[in-house]
Amino acid sequence: MSAEIIDGKAIGARVREEVARDVEAFTARTGRRPGLATILVGDDPASAMYVANKRKSAAEAGITSFHHGLPADATSEQVEAVIEQLNADDDVSGILCQLPVPDPLDGVHLTGLIDARKDVDGLTPLSAGYLALGREGLRPATPSGVMVLLHEAGVELSGAEAVVIGRSNLFGKPMAQLLLAANATVTIAHSRTADLAAVCRRADVLIAAVGRDRMVKADWVKPGAAVIDVGTNRGPDGLHGDVDFDAVKDVAGVITPVPGGVGPMTIAMLLRNTLTAAEMLAREEAPA
Ligand code: NAP
Repeated sequence: MSAEIIDGKAIGARVREEVARDVEAFTARTGRRPGLATILVGDDPASAMYVANKRKSAAEAGITSFHHGLPADATSEQVEAVIEQLNADDDVSGILCQLPVPDPLDGVHLTGLIDARKDVDGLTPLSAGYLALGREGLRPATPSGVMVLLHEAGVELSGAEAVVIGRSNLFGKPMAQLLLAANATVTIAHSRTADLAAVCRRADVLIAAVGRDRMVKADWVKPGAAVIDVGTNRGPDGLHGDVDFDAVKDVAGVITPVPGGVGPMTIAMLLRNTLTAAEMLAREEAPA
């Protein structure tokens, strides 16, 4: 039996429509439009394209965008000054600094300077701490998008055995925290995990975020499992995930394709985060 394929493109489009509707309601209620500030250091074409897409999608959702492009040889102090200015700007509800930043800039240091209330990438130490503590805060966009996909696919997380392959700060660690908060029993696997295939076979929910083309094979997957493929690997024959989709779809219960699975959720959740940040800031400003 072939797995149900989760249509991330359609779900992402729906989330974006919902955000656009909610942005209009927010603006009507508060007289303010949410604003997303993007910081791009250097001229890496892939980073420039990501930022351009984020700005375009923000505009489509009715979110004002503010862009700051800095040269590749910008000093840390120059980027810090931009972040400070945006932290203080009431028209800016969300700030993102596109990573990676060119050497010798320190991306972790720079993102850490973003006001946690405006941290729409959810990457500051405070945001990571709020997530770990189960407190209100902004969550990283891609793992949040995976949670929406799992929900939409009707995957039961409470009591489920979940395995996340990859332990990056950007994805693997926050993904594990979100699954834990949803009462899954969570294992984080990585490059030193012994017998990775056996660990994966335990999973009711298997999430791969590694960056290795079609690494997860059909015999790594428990029959009926939910398989979420975060990987993006560009090869001579196109874009592939970390999961051997053609073989795994005959074993899994539900599965995301690449492209058209997790990818479209990331920008959608960034827009949702920008509105959430604007709402949180408006609540703080409202008289008690
Ligand atoms: P990353 O920082 O490079 O982390 C990769 C993780 O995979 C590391 O934890 C690494 O383990 C682990 N790993 C590497 N080789 C392994 C192996 N042979 N067996 C088991 N684990 C292994 O990458 P990332 O930022 O998390 O991204 C992962 C993938 O997701 C990439 O393809 C990226 O493009 C994609 N991604 C997509 C989106 C999207 O919007 N669709 C968003 C984010 C990421 P160690 O920690 O031991 O080195």
